[in-house]
Amino acid sequence: MYLKSVELIGFKSFGKKSMLEFTTPITAIVGPNGSGKSNTAEAFRFVLGEQSIKSLRGKRGEDLIWGGSTEVSRANRATVRAVFDNSKRLLDIDFDEVAIERTVYRDGTNEYMINGSKVRLKDIIALLAGANIGFSGHHIISQGEADRIISASSRERRQMIEDALGLRVYQNKKEESLKKLEHTEENKVQVEALRRENTPHLRFLERQVKKIEKARVLREDLVAKYHEYLFFEEQYLKNEKKMLDNLRNEPTARLKETEQRIMEVRSELEHTKKGDKESEELLALNQSLDQLRNQKNEYIRSIGRIEGQITFEERRLEEEKRKSMEEEGRPVPYKHAKSFLEDLAYIIGDAPEREDPSIRELQKVLKNAKKILTRFIDQYVVKKVEYTPDLSTLEDLQKEKEKVNKQAQEVSARIEKTEQSIQAMKEAIEKEKDDSRDLERELFALMNTQTQLKATLSTLESREVTLRRDEDEFKHEIGEGVVLIGRAVQEYKDYSAGEESVSLREREEQLKCHRELEKMKIRLEELGGAATEEILTEYREVRERDEFLEGELNDLDQSAERLQGLISDLDHELSEKFKQGLEEISAQFNEFFVLMFGGGGARLTVVNEQVRKRKDELLETEGEDEEETALGVDVEVSLPKKRIQSLMMLSGGERALTSIALIFAMSQVNPPPFLILDETDAALDEANSKRYGDMIENLSKKSQLILITHNRDTMSRANILYGITMGADGVSRILSVKFDDAVAVAK
Ligand code: ATP
Repeated sequence: MYLKSVELIGFKSFGKKSMLEFTTPITAIVGPNGSGKSNTAEAFRFVLGEQSIKSLRGKRGEDLIWGGSTEVSRANRATVRAVFDNSKRLLDIDFDEVAIERTVYRDGTNEYMINGSKVRLKDIIALLAGANIGFSGHHIISQGEADRIISASSRERRQMIEDALGLRVYQNKKEESLKKLEHTEENKVQVEALRRENTPHLRFLERQVKKIEKARVLREDLVAKYHEYLFFEEQYLKNEKKMLDNLRNEPTARLKETEQRIMEVRSELEHTKKGDKESEELLALNQSLDQLRNQKNEYIRSIGRIEGQITFEERRLEEEKRKSMEEEGRPVPYKHAKSFLEDLAYIIGDAPEREDPSIRELQKVLKNAKKILTRFIDQYVVKKVEYTPDLSTLEDLQKEKEKVNKQAQEVSARIEKTEQSIQAMKEAIEKEKDDSRDLERELFALMNTQTQLKATLSTLESREVTLRRDEDEFKHEIGEGVVLIGRAVQEYKDYSAGEESVSLREREEQLKCHRELEKMKIRLEELGGAATEEILTEYREVRERDEFLEGELNDLDQSAERLQGLISDLDHELSEKFKQGLEEISAQFNEFFVLMFGGGGARLTVVNEQVRKRKDELLETEGEDEEETALGVDVEVSLPKKRIQSLMMLSGGERALTSIALIFAMSQVNPPPFLILDETDAALDEANSKRYGDMIENLSKKSQLILITHNRDTMSRANILYGITMGADGVSRILSVKFDDAVAVAK
């Protein structure tokens, strides 16, 4: 026995606390019409969790509460308490006795309890389902409900059979899983939406982070490039400076010298101006030379005149002498002879020897003549003259001649001197002119040199300007580098030139290096460097969120997969158990049917019922297949000696019998702990009542039976009979009755 008792307090007509105890396999509840028997059956359904007030014959929860009568005032709540024996752990809860209690209040609220602890409805349902007990279904057959199993649609019938087979647990589990799956899918959609929402921002940040990473690498490269550039640039600048200093030294010194020399030459050239003065002197000298020459000519003419006078005087004297000689035989004075000889000798002369023989011969003759003449004069010419001429005039003339001669000689000397002076002066002037020309030439050369030197220096200067600009640029570059990437830029001095062991490199290569540096700076600027930390932090957060959502999605996918697996397992199990159970029920049904009708046959068949109706209810559900079908169960019967095609053609009694056969078959295959049958036997004739009674006895071996009945035969099978009466106060009362009393009460 599982069901121990049921207690009703204020439930419907039970205005006073009443208790039914079930200590035997079959309990019958009897009583007149309207006494409250069906209310007890409803009390079971109520306490087991029935939610349809309508099926409890009410409109609102309030209708289930004792409404009061003239004698007994109305109740504020209705409570039903069912007590189960759980020593066999029929219910999955660790108590030997389990009391399930439900109370409804006038405001319609409900309260559920298990062993005095408040619980939720679903806890009760779950607990009972595990024991094949439910508020509706196969084990509580309400009044007039017996043929519901026949009149129901094949799909509803299938559900009833599933319930009877205890598949509700699986169904519940499946539904729960489906709900969970649905919930999971909803969550997935939500999480996907959140992730989608997050994605553009994440992508944006990813790009930013890539940029930042790129910028970081670029900065490192840039630092290296800076070091390379600055290292070589510094070497270049130092070298260039040194070189320019060296290069400038020599031309600077030379320029100085040249300019010094130019000054000197200029001043020397100034002095050559005195040449003009010398020219004037030369002119004066020339004039005095002319005068001297005139003077000399004067003297020479004087001498000539004097000599003419002397000659005249001499001739006069000779004439005088000749005259004297002619008078005395005219001897030739020796002096004359000698003079004669000298003249002759002079004419003969000592002419040089000639090669020509005839001239030599002539010369020989002339020499001999000279010899003879010389001897003659020495022998015969008188050496002494007696004649004494007056020589005073001649002597005066000679003296005068001498005097003039002397004067002439003096003038000649002076002329000679003057000529020498003129010559010297001319030479001096000439020399000065030459000197000046040389100086001018030198000056010209010097100025040329000066120009060249200046040009050289100016070239150097422009190189210096360039150098200074390069130096400024160098400093500027460091400053800019520090601003752009920090102090690391300044550590270029440790730059290892690597392969390039020399610290100088081709300028062209260095300029190329600078161009690369510039390009890198531009690239870095393009990448932008603001708010790096913030972006990285934000990226981390957004990525974590994305990863979290991804994890969530994975979890959801996994649980969806798990649920789908579970659902398909449950489907499989359901279909297997259903198939097997249905076969058993069908066989049992046939057996009971044959028993009831004394022949014929019945069976259950599985049909595919189209679910168009259900589909209409779920119009919002998109994409569902129009032709979708669900399994249903049909009942096929064949009555003995009758040809019937449909259940519709059965009589009321036949329908009742068929229903009972099916209900009993269901209970037989999977016996519920208890079975409540409210006037299921109402339509049976006597013969069938007996068969019904037999079947009940048979069923009671497996299930506890509570039968509400007016049927005498049924009553006779019960071990305990409860009579329900209703007095003038309208309150239903329960009393234990004897069979004979019961038969009387039932009437
Ligand atoms: P029958 O044999 O004709 O089926 P029954 O014994 O099954 O009758 P019930 O249907 O159980 O009778 O009881 C119906 C009675 O219960 C009615 O008299 C009705 O007035 C009474 N009743 C139903 N609800 C309430 C209520 N809330 N308060 C008081 N009485 C109620």
